[in-house]
Amino acid sequence: MSESGPPKKRFPLTLDFVTGIAGRKKAATPHRLNSTQTATQNAAKAAGQTSTQSGVRSPAGARGSQPVGTVTASGTAPSVARPAASRMQPVSAMATDRHANVPLVSDAVRKAMVQRLAEQGVRDPMVLAAMEAVPRHLFLEPGLASQAYIDASLPIGYHQTISQPYIVARMIEILREGTSGKLKKVLEIGTGCGYQAAVLAQVADEVYSIERIRPLHEQARNNLRPLRIPNLRLHYGDGMLGLPQAGPFDGIILAAAGLEIPQALMEQLAVGGRMIAPIGNNEQVLKLVVRTGRNEWLADTLERCHFVPLRPGTFG
Ligand code: SAH
Repeated sequence: MSESGPPKKRFPLTLDFVTGIAGRKKAATPHRLNSTQTATQNAAKAAGQTSTQSGVRSPAGARGSQPVGTVTASGTAPSVARPAASRMQPVSAMATDRHANVPLVSDAVRKAMVQRLAEQGVRDPMVLAAMEAVPRHLFLEPGLASQAYIDASLPIGYHQTISQPYIVARMIEILREGTSGKLKKVLEIGTGCGYQAAVLAQVADEVYSIERIRPLHEQARNNLRPLRIPNLRLHYGDGMLGLPQAGPFDGIILAAAGLEIPQALMEQLAVGGRMIAPIGNNEQVLKLVVRTGRNEWLADTLERCHFVPLRPGTFG
């Protein structure tokens, strides 16, 4: 490695300094998010669906799936836990008290969500398996749990949202591109309710996740506790500073959009590591940054997206 020579580029780099990723083929038809959307609109829309005569609608593309919360995977009576295929525990065993009165969401509905993700272009089998393993409804308040498997961001309080399943799967797929086994060490900025962190923990040996809003950090802890995920560590703090004591990271994923990637995160990316981040204000795009040398980073602009803002400091 020629990492000891003079820096090839001035450091720290802003994205303007970072060149396109050489040789990386752009998809002929870049993925586009369905639309930018607000979580509250999504929640209201989905709530409207629950009040239609036919009850909660199955997710789009979920052919043959049963309505959420009314029929179990076997299509008979409500809710018996079936052994999960993965190492995650069955849904009912993980349900926390606050979900005790929520009609249990069947495995079939989650499978239908995964099927839809595949139809939307997510290919990585490890990512699809992870999306199937993590019960998204447990990360929502009981009133929204029946909407957990629609492809939408939903409110989690404090003006923040749980990301839509497609973008969670897509970003993790991009992070994993070129990796045959699991990622080693991953950092997430923006724990929120903890859902994406739980998915990441299925595809990486070690996951660290930082949240700046203390009550959300605690909510994530509570959501994750019953899942007993040993390779996931939550931190309360300003993720723009990263987590130098745990780095460098093979993968860094930002769940909130800044105008540029914080320089501390560029530094904490391992050489050869990949970082995926939404960038922008009203118009946002996903940026992929690959660290190719001690002083060299390459960047690529991918699809459009819509995230809550990345903010400095802590709250609460
Ligand atoms: N990962 C979540 C998405 C949460 S929304 C999921 O699974 O769906 C994004 C989160 O980023 C919010 O909770 C917000 O508070 C947090 N955030 C914004 N700026 C941050 C910062 N500088 N450090 C840590 N978290 C931040």
